[in-house]
Amino acid sequence: MVNEKYLFRYLIDKLYRDNYLREDEIVFLLENVKLYGNDYLIQKADETRRRVYGDRVFMRGLIEISNYCKRQCRYCGISALNPKVHRYRLTKEEILASCDKGYGLGFRTFVLQGGEDSQFTDDLLTDLIYEIKERYPDAAVTLSLGERSFQSYRKLLGAGADRYLLRHETASRELYESMHINSSYDARLEALRNLKRLGYQVGAGFMVGIPKQTKADLAQDLLFLKELDPEMVGLGPFIPHRDTIYRDEEPGSLEDTLTMLALTRLFLPYALLPSTTALASIDENGRELGLKAGANVVMPNLSPVHIRDDYSLYDGKVSSGYEAGEHRKSLEKRICQAGYKVDMSKGDHIRWKSN
Ligand code: SAH
Repeated sequence: MVNEKYLFRYLIDKLYRDNYLREDEIVFLLENVKLYGNDYLIQKADETRRRVYGDRVFMRGLIEISNYCKRQCRYCGISALNPKVHRYRLTKEEILASCDKGYGLGFRTFVLQGGEDSQFTDDLLTDLIYEIKERYPDAAVTLSLGERSFQSYRKLLGAGADRYLLRHETASRELYESMHINSSYDARLEALRNLKRLGYQVGAGFMVGIPKQTKADLAQDLLFLKELDPEMVGLGPFIPHRDTIYRDEEPGSLEDTLTMLALTRLFLPYALLPSTTALASIDENGRELGLKAGANVVMPNLSPVHIRDDYSLYDGKVSSGYEAGEHRKSLEKRICQAGYKVDMSKGDHIRWKSN
């Protein structure tokens, strides 16, 4: 036992130093973290984030542009499989009005996220991106609109998009295939590689606590990220949605999510790592605990208030209070109380060095 405790700490120190561990070493940490606790791991993750980005927490304004989706992700509340969703699609004017509100509040990154909605054609999106970049040349545009072709990603980049978020969801092919109908693991990874190749700042990421997910699967997520080397990583707990086949499953836990956040920070010291809404949705203090475990980005919601509840990816998704862009000041207070400070700049990845 004494040896195991020693090994546990030794591996955390090794990860802190090398930003890498083998699969069996990660699995060992995951198997023993309940017994020995994740305090030391979290402390090392926080030290790493402070060394690279200091105590800054970057803010992004999230605009949920459409909940129409042609994909059939079995866990997702807005999947095409769910006939009960009230579907909406924001107009160009509504999206620009959301950006305008966000810009006034100080946001310098707009994240346009949505389901895979074929009405959002390349022409429509390029027109929209041009317009946003023309109005707010000092702001970044991040897209999160699922899988599109190489040509499409190229056009959107040409129009001025800076970043693209596309979680890999899980690095286990088997698990990925069991969670999606008519979607291919290879196509997802190909899309991520295309985004990288084109020169976007890319965000990958995964869910923690997916039913049947093993510790080896989670280790693979970290190794996959290490290899892809994305600029951003979105990770949060899996949370069941009442209209999906996972309705009776347990959500991913706070502790497991914090452990994976801290490990991700140590594997990718330079990553921009949001403390996600899903984490804030499973625990009142989730947002702050995520920051303390190595996260350094927060994405408050700037979508028009009347549609926020319709973008229901999972049950209990928080969309008001501190999650809302309008309450930036109270969120700022909480971030300061947690020991960090808000940075409203565009907040590019260190490799881009434009701030
Ligand atoms: N259509 C875009 C955006 C998807 S929604 C895309 O495909 O990338 C953003 C993220 O929400 C997803 O990548 C997924 O990881 C997360 N999500 C969806 N359903 C969820 C659930 N039930 N629990 C936790 N996270 C979920």
